[in-house]
Amino acid sequence: MKILFLDQSGKLGGAELCLADIAQQFHATSLVGVFAEGSFPEYLRKRNIPVKILTQQTLQVQKNSGFLAGLKSLNRLIPLITTVAQLSKQYDLLYANTQKALVVGALASLLSRRPLVYHLHDIVSPDHFSTVNRRIIITLANRAALVIANSQASREAFIQAGGHGDKVHVIYNGFNLENYLHCANQREHLQAELVSILPQLEDRTPPFIVGHFSRLSPWKGQDVLIEALQYCPHNVTALLVGDALFGEQAYGQQLHQQIKSLNLEHRVKFLGFRSDIPQLMTACDLVTHTSTAPEPFGRVIVEAMLCGTPVVAAAAGGAVELIDHGQTGWLTPPGDAKKLADIINTCQQQASQSKAIAQKAQQRAIQSFNLAATNLQISQLLSRISNCEINNIRNPS
Ligand code: UDP
Repeated sequence: MKILFLDQSGKLGGAELCLADIAQQFHATSLVGVFAEGSFPEYLRKRNIPVKILTQQTLQVQKNSGFLAGLKSLNRLIPLITTVAQLSKQYDLLYANTQKALVVGALASLLSRRPLVYHLHDIVSPDHFSTVNRRIIITLANRAALVIANSQASREAFIQAGGHGDKVHVIYNGFNLENYLHCANQREHLQAELVSILPQLEDRTPPFIVGHFSRLSPWKGQDVLIEALQYCPHNVTALLVGDALFGEQAYGQQLHQQIKSLNLEHRVKFLGFRSDIPQLMTACDLVTHTSTAPEPFGRVIVEAMLCGTPVVAAAAGGAVELIDHGQTGWLTPPGDAKKLADIINTCQQQASQSKAIAQKAQQRAIQSFNLAATNLQISQLLSRISNCEINNIRNPS
């Protein structure tokens, strides 16, 4: 099957990592069209996945942009839509992975008469999108032949916003299990390595390392973890992994201010964007997820489970589907630093129970999030769409 994948981002976020894993299986016949140069196309090239930068122009529209900003971007969108429409004639279907890719893909698919698939990685709600953007997503996605939602939460929000439920299939992100299980066998070595880069405590107590793996963005709630540190023993150290990907540098500065005003400089370490996530997660004593708005899926939660590291997540959106509270991890109310601190402290005090929970979570994640299985589900759905289209062309009604 020949697929033209489309993604607006030059940066490597969760949606792009997911797309790379899907596109890999079609690399011999397909192309990933990206709307900006950057770490994402680089990542694809390293994996021998064909990639093409489709525009040199920056598309200004943000998730919370209004009608006027959308109109202003039209002069940049039209040439891009024409390019994609031309290009897509060489492919069996168009696969839009992000919101702007949906806009471009939907209009190009009308021109080239190729079926459109939309991979929904977002919760289409007022928490995340302006009214105008929600309307655009729903109207265009309803024209797609298939919508793949990354969680039940994303599916439900889509339907609530007016999306057609009959074309939505929920397929969770899949993960290459080897990458994580291999690290889990080297836990002690990885922990020693990580401890060596952290500041030593005066009384030589070993640190209890609480990792947070996410781009720096207000709704990802790194500030909630920093606030929680105040209610934890002095050896609890936060490791913040991730960078401000989408112009949210001011939030990074705000976090540094918060750390300074709470006198926590010696207990927080920023590592910036990293590509050794399984190694770092394995070395942590606990992974925290602290999003203050519903998380569409939460790749980091599954990754921590696969590493066999205990994980606590904010109870909203897809996170609730991933963790069974008290069985395979913990859930806390979004934004509640005190409840988060309680879990961190319990986890430190009851190490063997936490380990048992993490082991159960690892088994659950191995069963439910295997990339080979999710890729098979996706390729079966795509074959159905593409066969259906071929039949429609041969037997027009
Ligand atoms: N990630 C990464 N390097 C970092 C921080 C995060 O590779 O420094 C990865 C992380 O392992 C996860 C993805 O980025 O696979 C983030 O996905 P998630 O669903 O948690 O959030 P999103 O970015 O999609 O909102």
